[in-house]
Amino acid sequence: MNFTKTGKAGAVAIALLLTTALGANAAMDDVKIKATKLSDGIHMLAGKGGNIGVLTGPDGTFMVDDQFAPLTDRILAAIKGVGGDTPRFVINTHYHHDHTGGNENLGNKGVTIVSHDNVRKKLVNGATIKAFNKVIPPAAKAAVPVITFAEEMTFHLNGETLHVFHSPNGHTDGDAIIHFKNANVIHAGDIFFNGFYPFIDVGAGGTVNGVIAAVDKMLALADDNTKIIPGHGPLADKAQLVAYRQMLMTAQTRLSGLKSSGKSAADAVAAQPLADMEVKWGKGFLPTDKWITIVYDGV
Ligand SMILES: [Zn+2]
Repeated sequence: MNFTKTGKAGAVAIALLLTTALGANAAMDDVKIKATKLSDGIHMLAGKGGNIGVLTGPDGTFMVDDQFAPLTDRILAAIKGVGGDTPRFVINTHYHHDHTGGNENLGNKGVTIVSHDNVRKKLVNGATIKAFNKVIPPAAKAAVPVITFAEEMTFHLNGETLHVFHSPNGHTDGDAIIHFKNANVIHAGDIFFNGFYPFIDVGAGGTVNGVIAAVDKMLALADDNTKIIPGHGPLADKAQLVAYRQMLMTAQTRLSGLKSSGKSAADAVAAQPLADMEVKWGKGFLPTDKWITIVYDGV
């Protein structure tokens, strides 16, 4: 989803969720793609939608996620700007349209699209993001991943080893995490919203405990020098991922307590169990009440 840190941008994000692809075009006109260097040949690109990871080098460009279709030309220009070319591969961290919206454009340029098995299923069949009543129609053929995996896979490019692995029932049922092993970089996809409550797509199999489990897998790989690309929010370090985990654990404990005592989602919201977390975590796309409503079935 297209979550950013400010309320105004959050409103824009909601508007984007509700507009057609055509309507979204106008909202994309002002978007600029900002590249941040993480290591030799590795950059994070931020524009609108999920943060992009890029590995460049003599063996070709490898890309993680591709934001929205109207941004493809700007994203490819940004990749050229950091020394890359039309990617050889793009991997989708999950099926949401703010991470896969560029697939069709890239597929038409001959880019090989890679994803978890369940991402391909949702793109082929279409899906509904129930929390937002957002209907995702079946994707064009060029947008559909041609290589999929169930548990893990490894790419060997440009002297880098990219370990791609699945963690079940986290943000969705098809999440991929990408570990750039030599460079000590992790692309977390939407497992990690840095600094604010994450959207969790409970309708697509997402759960709070699954997000925590995926975070734990990343923490086991990370040290104090690891650079972590979150799905949304600024580039992160391990300490920020630890803080995020703590927030999720607290929420899971309190919300599951309410749930096991028979409280409905509306009761849980009324009980204000996370009132102390609103200031730090509720200023992004999702205020606390809305977040509880969205994740309650997934605790
Ligand atoms: Zn997402």
